[in-house]
Amino acid sequence: MRIINLISDLIFPRRCPVCDEVLSKKDGKDLICAACFPKIRYIKSPKCYKCGKQLGDDETEYCEDCRRKKHLFERGFALYDYHSVRLSMYRFKYSGRTEYAQFFGRDMAEHFGDEFKKLGIDAIVPVPMYAAKQRSRGFNQAEVLAKALGEELGLPVMNSLVKRVKKTLPMKMLSPAERSANLKNAFIIGHFDVKLRKILVVDDIYTTGCTSDAVAEVLKAAGISEVYFAALSIGEGF
Ligand SMILES: [Zn+2]
Ligand SMILES: [Zn+2]
Repeated sequence: MRIINLISDLIFPRRCPVCDEVLSKKDGKDLICAACFPKIRYIKSPKCYKCGKQLGDDETEYCEDCRRKKHLFERGFALYDYHSVRLSMYRFKYSGRTEYAQFFGRDMAEHFGDEFKKLGIDAIVPVPMYAAKQRSRGFNQAEVLAKALGEELGLPVMNSLVKRVKKTLPMKMLSPAERSANLKNAFIIGHFDVKLRKILVVDDIYTTGCTSDAVAEVLKAAGISEVYFAALSIGEGF
């Protein structure tokens, strides 16, 4: 296994998730450049009790969005401010830099792992991609991220527990009402034969929570009692 890793490092040298340069072993950090690490902005307290977004100066306990809208998930955890990792997210998603997931998964586990353990999460579920879209892209970035997080936390990842059965439009083009309509009947529950009580849904970006709500809805209809989500970044998406 180690030899395979070494060969793969030679052919596909690991790149920094921030600057995309090949990482040098001398640099100290093995998954990100030491100089790039401070460029990432983490979501800081005070955070919204519901979605985990950083609160504005005029907000207390809940963000404006969560005050307006009742979400179907219990609580969300978000790691980065979207704007500080925008290009990284873009390459992760559209340029096949799936290797970034190792840093992202580890970072997420370091920040939220204890809380996930305390909650007693049974399994991780990535937000699914429509099958034809996943075939053309070659991977689902939420799945890649969920796998890295699952390995860090020793939690099972269930890629087929929820399936996306409708070709949906990119959310960035739509108004809030259109977003909900776009996701109507988009997800179905897959087969499962183990007892599941608490699920952590994982995605790369959280914007308004419509997707998390739609996934939480089908999980709850299938008898899952608590649904949490973890997003790598939070803010305006693509
Ligand atoms: Zn770098
Ligand atoms: Zn909120």
